[in-house]
Amino acid sequence: MEKQTCNVCQQGTYKAETGDGPCLPCPPFSQGPDYGLTECRCNAGYFRAPTDPKNMSCTQPPSAPVNLTVSFVDQSTVILSWLPPESQGGRIDTVYRIRCDACSLGLVQYNPSTETFNETRVTISGLNAVTTYRFQIFAENGVSHMAMRPAEFADIVVTTEASVASSITNIRVTSVKSTEISIAWDAPNDDEDLVETYEVRWFKRNDIDYSNNSLLTSDLSATITGLQQRTEYGVQVRAKTQRGWGAYSPVIFKTTGQVLNTAYIGDEEGLRLQLVAGGIVAVVVILVAVIVLTVVFLRSRSNDECNKKQPSDCDTLEYRNGEVHHSLDNPPIVATHTNVTTPLFTGISASRTYIDPHTYEDPNQAVREFAREIDASCITIEAIIGGGEFGDVCRGKLKMNGVDIDVAIKTLKAGSLEKSRNDFLTEASIMGQFEHPNVIFLQGVVTKSNPVMIITEYMENGSLDTFLRANDGKFQVIQLTGMLRGIASGMQYLSEMNYVHRDLAARNVLVNSQLVCKIADFGLSREIESATEGAYTTRGGKIPVRWTAPEAIAFRKFTSASDVWSMGIVCWEVMSYGERPYWNWSNQDVIKSIEKGYRLPAPMDCPEAIYQLMLDCWQKERTHRPTFQSIVKTLDKLIRVPDTLRKIAQNRTNNPLSADAPDLTNFSCVEEWLNSIKMARYLENFHAGGITTMDAVINLTVKELTELGITLVGHQKKIMNSVQSMRAQIRVNGSEGFLV
Ligand code: AMP
Repeated sequence: MEKQTCNVCQQGTYKAETGDGPCLPCPPFSQGPDYGLTECRCNAGYFRAPTDPKNMSCTQPPSAPVNLTVSFVDQSTVILSWLPPESQGGRIDTVYRIRCDACSLGLVQYNPSTETFNETRVTISGLNAVTTYRFQIFAENGVSHMAMRPAEFADIVVTTEASVASSITNIRVTSVKSTEISIAWDAPNDDEDLVETYEVRWFKRNDIDYSNNSLLTSDLSATITGLQQRTEYGVQVRAKTQRGWGAYSPVIFKTTGQVLNTAYIGDEEGLRLQLVAGGIVAVVVILVAVIVLTVVFLRSRSNDECNKKQPSDCDTLEYRNGEVHHSLDNPPIVATHTNVTTPLFTGISASRTYIDPHTYEDPNQAVREFAREIDASCITIEAIIGGGEFGDVCRGKLKMNGVDIDVAIKTLKAGSLEKSRNDFLTEASIMGQFEHPNVIFLQGVVTKSNPVMIITEYMENGSLDTFLRANDGKFQVIQLTGMLRGIASGMQYLSEMNYVHRDLAARNVLVNSQLVCKIADFGLSREIESATEGAYTTRGGKIPVRWTAPEAIAFRKFTSASDVWSMGIVCWEVMSYGERPYWNWSNQDVIKSIEKGYRLPAPMDCPEAIYQLMLDCWQKERTHRPTFQSIVKTLDKLIRVPDTLRKIAQNRTNNPLSADAPDLTNFSCVEEWLNSIKMARYLENFHAGGITTMDAVINLTVKELTELGITLVGHQKKIMNSVQSMRAQIRVNGSEGFLV
C-alpha cells in the first residue's frame, strides 16, 4: 500500500481477493513459503475443505468415536451409542457412518437411515437372532475425504439374543382344497405382550423358497390360495409383539387336493370327499379310494415304490414306529405330510415319529427311504477336518442347482466290511428323518460309488466342547444361555419324535458360524458308541458314564428322561467352558458319588437359575426331571428377562469358609497352587513377573495379572477367585500355612 503501489504479499502471508485489503498472516496449521500467495498451504496432515474460508485454520479428520456401547439388544435389534471423538480436528461438522459387513442388504434397516448422520446413536433392526455382528462407527468431517487414509472408527461385536420363542401352539389344518389350504392356530398364552400381527409362510416340500410366500393377518386363521394341486406344502406361523417377531412355529405339512375330471379330493369342510359332478362320479371315486386304501394298508412297511401316478396311496397313511397307521387326526382319505416315496425330506411335523432303521430287514432300504442319493460328481472335497469312527471327516462343497454350498463329508474307509458300511449309513437313515434348526441337517448320501459318503450341513465352529475350550471366558452368560436353549430345543424336537439320543454331550453338539448349536452324532448302534468316553457295562455295551443317568447305567433304562440328565451335564459343560465333568475322577468314582447323592458344583459365574436347572435334570427319580419342553421354556424365560441371570450360584464348594472347604492356605509354592486350579500354563508368566512366592500371590490384583500377560477374562476370574478365597481363609483362620 505504501506509495500507492502494489506490493507482493510476503512469505507467511496471503491475500485471497483483489482489493485494498492487506496481506493476512497465514491461519494456524498452514504456511506461506512463497511470495504473492492467494491462500496459504496447509501443513502436512491438515486440510482446507473447498467451502472453508481461506482465513480459517487448516483442519484434520476427527479421531474415532469414543465409548461405543450397546444400549439395547434383543433378537433382531441392536442400539449403539457413543460419544463424539476426543479430537474433532478443529471443525464442528463431524458426522458418523455405520458399517456392518454381515448385515444382509435390504433386510437390515438403520435409523437414522441416511448414509451419514449427526446423532451419536443408531438403531439397527432386522438382524438375525443369535448372530454375531461387528459394527464399525466411523467419524468423518468436511476434510475426511481429502486425507489419504481411511476414516477412524470404533468397533464393537454384538451377538443378538435368542429368538423369543413362539408360543403359537396348536397350529392345525382346517381345510384343504385343490389349490388352497386353510389353517388355524391358538394365540400365544404365556405372553404378556399383545400380538400385533401374525405371519403365515409356506413352501413346497422339495423347494424351500419362502419368497413371496407369506401373508400377514391379525386373525387366528388364514387361507393360503393359489397353490398347486397335489403338492405337499409346509406351513409355519409366527407372531409379532412389541418386542419383535417370535420364532416360527414348527412346520406342518399338507398336500393339496387333486381335481379328478370334475371332482377333487381333499378334506374340505370337515374332510368330506367332495364332488362337483354328479353322484355316479362320487360312488366311483369312493370305490377307487376304498380299494386303494385297502391295498395300501395291506402293503408292508418296505413300500418304497408307491406309484407316483397315484400318490394318494402314499399320502393317506403314516408310519409310526415302523408300523402303518392312519394319520391320527385325519381320516384316511386325507393327505398327510408323510410320503414314503419322498426320498429327501421325510418329515418335520411333531406328529411324526422316528423309525428305528434297525427295524428294516435290509438296511439299504432304510437309507433309500430316508436319505437322498447324491451323485459323487456334485461333491468337491476341500480339507480333512476330523477323524470319525469310520473314516475321515472333510469339509467340501456340494453343487446344488448350480450353486456351491459348504458341506461336511463323512467318508467310509476303503475296504470296510459290509457290517461297517451298514453301521455307517445308519446314521444317515436316522439323521434323514429329522429337520429342525437345532439338529444337524442331512443333505444326502453317496452310496453308488466309492468312497461311500454322508453329506451334512457344514458347522464352521466344529464341536461345542472344543469350541468352548478355545474361547474360555469370551461369551456373555446370555450367549451361553442362548446356546443351551438351542440344544434343548433340538432335544425337544428329537424327544417328540420319540428318539432317544443316549450320547448327548458337548462333544456331540456342533456349532456354526452364527453360534447356533445343533445336535449331531446319531451314531450307529448305541451299544458301541462313544469309543473314547464309553465304559463297558457288565453286559459288554459301552456307556459314556459321566453323561449318563444312573438308571441308564444300572439297568440300561435309556429314555428321554435319561437324555435330560445328559442335558444337565451339557449345561455344566457349557457354563464351565468345556471343563470335563467330574474332572479326573474315575468312572467308578463318578458312579459311586452320584449314587451317594453327590452332584457337580455350580461352575464359576454360573447363574443360580441355570444351576438349579442342572440340579433338576439330575434328579435321581427320572419322573421328577423336567421335560425338554419345560427346559426350553425355562431357558426362554431367562433369556427374555436377563436380570434373572444376574444372581450367581453360590454353593458349598465355592464358599472357602464352609467347614468342608479345602484348606487353601497351605500351598508350598506357586506351582502347586496353580496346579490346583488348573492354571499351571501361566507358571512362566508368574516367574517372569517376579511372583515367585505365595506371599506375593496373596496380594495379586487383576491389573497385575494383565501385566503378567494373563488377559483372558475367564482365566483372570479363576485365578482371582482362588486368591480371594485364600484371603478369606487367612482373615478367618490366621496365616499359618504358606505365609510362614
Ligand atoms: P464325528 O464322527 O461325527 O464325531 O465327527 C468327527 C469330527 O468331525 C467332529 O468332532 C467335528 O469336529 C467334525 N465334524 C463332524 N461333522 C461336522 C460338521 N457337520 N461340520 C463341521 N465339522 C464336523
